Order: sequence, then structure tokens, then C-alpha cells
Amino acid sequence: MAGGWAKDGAVQEQIDASVADAIKQARAQLAKGVGSENCDECDSAIPLARQKAVPGTRLCIKCQETKDNQHQRHSTINRSGSKDSQLR
Ligand SMILES: [Zn+2]
Repeated sequence: MAGGWAKDGAVQEQIDASVADAIKQARAQLAKGVGSENCDECDSAIPLARQKAVPGTRLCIKCQETKDNQHQRHSTINRSGSKDSQLR
């Protein structure tokens, strides 16, 4: 039945999400000790100087900066969001 298939798909999606979370957590724990020679994001080589300067890094400088900027932009959006709700 069509309904049954849809339900199965939803459950599988949840399982996939859990697995993805587990992989993400394992990667985060790994990042603490073991760095990477290639960037996790863009796969370009991470300079040896950076590997030594930031032990356990898995991102190149460019991707790390992009990530940092995203964090900053995110908190700005949150702040303007609460400002909007105050105006209402
Ligand atoms: Zn990169």
C-alpha cells in the first residue's frame, strides 16, 4: 500500500539522520586528536604550517574563515529576529 511505503520511508529517513549524527560526532571527536592533510570541505591540501599551528584541524584556512563568518552572520540574524519581535 502507498501509505505503508511512505511510513517506511519516513522511518528510514530518521535512521539515516541518526547515522549521520553519529558520523558527525565521531568526526568531531576525531578532529580533537587527528588532523587531516586535506580539507574536509573543499579537499584542498592544508599547509603543513597550519597543521602544526592548529593541531587536529580538518579545514583549510579559507573554509575555516567561511565557517567563522557563517557563525557571526547566524548570531546577527538571531539578534535582528528578536528585535523584530520586540517591535511587534
Ligand atoms: Zn577548504
